[in-house]
Amino acid sequence: MSTLTPPFSDEHEHLRQSIRGFIERELTPHAQQWEEDRWFPDEVFGKLAAQGLLGLKYPESYGGQGGDYLHEAVLCEELARTGSGGTAAGIGAHVNIATPPIWKFGTEDQKQRYLVPAIRGEKIGALGITEPGAGSDVAALSTRAERVDGGWVVNGEKTYITNGVRAHFIVTAVKTTQEGGHHGTSFLIVERGEDDGITTSKLEKLGWHASDTATISFQDTFVAEENLLGELDGAFKLIMANFQWERLAMSLGAVGAMQIAWERTAQFARDREAFGRPLSGHQAIRHKLADMATSVYTCRCATYDALRRFVAGEDPLREVTMAKLLTQRASFELMDQCLQIHGGAGYMREYWVERAARDARLGPIGGGSDEIMREILGRVLGL
Ligand SMILES: Cc1cc2nc3c(=O)[nH]c(=O)nc-3n(C[C@H](O)[C@H](O)[C@H](O)COP(=O)(O)OP(=O)(O)OC[C@H]3O[C@@H](n4cnc5c(N)ncnc54)[C@H](O)[C@@H]3O)c2cc1C
Repeated sequence: MSTLTPPFSDEHEHLRQSIRGFIERELTPHAQQWEEDRWFPDEVFGKLAAQGLLGLKYPESYGGQGGDYLHEAVLCEELARTGSGGTAAGIGAHVNIATPPIWKFGTEDQKQRYLVPAIRGEKIGALGITEPGAGSDVAALSTRAERVDGGWVVNGEKTYITNGVRAHFIVTAVKTTQEGGHHGTSFLIVERGEDDGITTSKLEKLGWHASDTATISFQDTFVAEENLLGELDGAFKLIMANFQWERLAMSLGAVGAMQIAWERTAQFARDREAFGRPLSGHQAIRHKLADMATSVYTCRCATYDALRRFVAGEDPLREVTMAKLLTQRASFELMDQCLQIHGGAGYMREYWVERAARDARLGPIGGGSDEIMREILGRVLGL
C-alpha cells in the first residue's frame, strides 16, 4: 500500500525513507535487548537529536529543523518500526507531550532552559498529569503547590508517568488554589536536582516493557517562580489543548504499527504451509487478511483526515477523537488477528507479534480511554 497520501508530499516521503533507515539501523536491532532490560538507554535521545529527530516541528532558532506537525507525523508513524512500543513511547512522550507545552506556552527563558536542551537530547522530558486518584477525571487532581517566597512548594503524587524515572524535567499539573474542579490548575516545570524532595519508582507492565513508566512523589519540592508554565490557574485548557496532538500522535503510531504488522503477517501466511498449501491459500485466512488490510486503510484515512485538518489550523476535536477511538481498538484487534494467523509461533517470545499484541493493548487506555473518547463525541455530537 502506498504511503504517498495527502496531506503528505514527496518531501515527507524523503524524510520517511531517511527516518526509516535510521530506525532500522540504530534502534530496531536493539529492541529485543531493551525489552529484556526493561529500559532503553538515555543515549538514544542523543542519537535521535544528532539526526535532528527531536526537533522536527520546532524552529531552527531553538535548534529544531524548522518543520511542522506533518514532519513530526512521519516520525510518529515510523517509530512503530523499532518493534518496541516502549521505546517508541519513551521517545514519543519527550517529543509529543512533554516539550510541546513549553514551546507553545513557555517564556523565552523556559524555552532556552528546557526546549533547547531537549531538542539536543541533553535533557529528557516527561508530562505529569495522572495521579492515583485522577486519571480520566483530570479535574480531580490533588497534587498541591503552595505559594512561598520565590516560588512554590509541591506535595503529592503522580503515577503512570512515561520517562518518570529518567526525566530531567517534568511538566507537572498541580492545584494552585483550594478551588475544586477545573479551576486553579497550573503547570509547573519541575526540574530534577539534588535533594529535590522527589522519589520515583518504576512500574512493571503488560507491555511497553522498554519504557520507563513511574510513580513520582513530591515531598516539599521547591519550584522557582520562573518555572510557572503559562498562566497561573490557567492550565486546564492547556492540558486539553495538548491532548489533541497526543491523540493524533497515538493514532499515527497505531497506523504505522498496523501497516507493518499486516505486511509481516501476509508474508508469514504466504510462507507457512498447512494442508498442502500456503495459509493464504485458505479462504478463511485470505479473507481475514483482506479485512485487516481494510482496517489499516480506514484507520489511515481517518487519521490523515484529522491530521490534515489539525495542520490547516482547524479545531478538529471530533475528527481527532474519532481517529483515536477507531485506531487504538482496531490496532489491538489487528495484532490479535496477526497473532492468531501465526498459530503457536505467535504466542512465543521469539516472534515479534507476541510483543506487538501486548504493546497495542495500551492504546484504548492511554491518552484518554475509549470511554472518554465516546463521552467527548457525545458532547460534540450534541447527544
Ligand atoms: C503505560 C502508560 C503510560 C502512561 N503515560 C502517561 C504519562 O506520560 N503522563 C500522564 O499524565 N499519564 C500517563 N498515563 C496515564 C493514562 O493517561 C491514564 O491511565 C488514563 O487516562 C486512564 O486513567 P486511569 O488509569 O486513572 O483510569 P480511570 O480514570 O480510573 O478509568 C478506569 C476505567 O473507567 C473508565 N471510565 C472512567 N470514567 C468514565 C466515564 N465517565 N464513563 C465511562 N467510563 C469511564 C475508563 O475508560 C477506564 O476503562 C499512562 C498510562 C499508562 C498505562
